[in-house]
Amino acid sequence: MAAEQLIITPPLAANADVVVVGSGTAGASAAIAAARNGASVLLIEKQGFMGGTSTAVLDTFYGFYTPGSDPRKIAGGISDDVVAGLRQLGPVLERPNTYGAGTGVTYNSEHLKLVWERLASEAGVRVMLHSYLQDVSARDGHVEELLLATKAGLVRVAGRLFVDASGDADLAHHAGFGYELAGANDPAQTLTTTFRMVNVDIAARKSISTAEMPVVDVRICDIGSTAGRAVTVGCGPRLISASSPSTSSSTTTGVSGSASPARMSTACSAMAIARMLRS
Ligand SMILES: Cc1cc2nc3c(=O)[nH]c(=O)nc-3n(C[C@H](O)[C@H](O)[C@H](O)COP(=O)(O)OP(=O)(O)OC[C@H]3O[C@@H](n4cnc5c(N)ncnc54)[C@H](O)[C@@H]3O)c2cc1C
Repeated sequence: MAAEQLIITPPLAANADVVVVGSGTAGASAAIAAARNGASVLLIEKQGFMGGTSTAVLDTFYGFYTPGSDPRKIAGGISDDVVAGLRQLGPVLERPNTYGAGTGVTYNSEHLKLVWERLASEAGVRVMLHSYLQDVSARDGHVEELLLATKAGLVRVAGRLFVDASGDADLAHHAGFGYELAGANDPAQTLTTTFRMVNVDIAARKSISTAEMPVVDVRICDIGSTAGRAVTVGCGPRLISASSPSTSSSTTTGVSGSASPARMSTACSAMAIARMLRS
């Protein structure tokens, strides 16, 4: 195919007062706030659901309360609406935080997907899922249009005001604007991967204290490949247990990318459990 045959002008799919890229906590809140204040709002999300890290990775909000022994609530508005929506669908747990981030609000991330979508549609936000920002047309430092890859093909969207809530500065990057690379000026925080487990032996987990965890971690790496045996794993301040698949309940935990011995052994533990459950 000749190169010139690939040069096309995709159709203009939408035009809005405010176009938000990314439906994570930041983008969803910005879109809902703008729509509640009367703007026509288009929210663009590459995933098939809203919420970004809050629904794809996490199960707890921090930052609603001050840390310390006398927690005070310092966030409200849309975050209150989110928590109220979560409470309508199931339990929401407020729990003291053990590593200094303050009281955490723990939720079911599947419920949160519904809550974000309900709040957005009630406010009148038009949400485009499965829509990936590919390029930006900008003139004199002003964004004019976005190019999106969607299930319907390439489309353009126009707007008066654009919000980059991609978490990666994708819009700023494609527009040729400035941004700061993570880790360029200060050390970047180590990564954490959160995952969910079934068949958790809650009683066995509660029988082990936090102080015992590093020892427990090492033990797991030794016995983890033994199929059918009860296995207990540690994970920083959170501790989980897994036993043979006859027990039933679940929990969520995380494996950090930091190289501390305890965390390395936690990663080892997770792999051991995966092996055990497969065999
Ligand atoms: C591993 C990890 C653990 C964390 N733990 C906690 C915690 O326990 N509690 C807590 O309160 N905070 C936690 N945080 C911080 C919290 O997750 C973030 O502060 C918050 O989620 C950031 O929200 P955001 O909307 O800015 O970005 P994100 O949630 O990353 O949302 C960005 C959205 O943009 C979309 N997007 C990106 N690029 C494109 C594109 N080109 N086109 C279309 N869409 C695009 C993404 O799919 C995503 O939906 C954690 C962060 C991480 C990474």
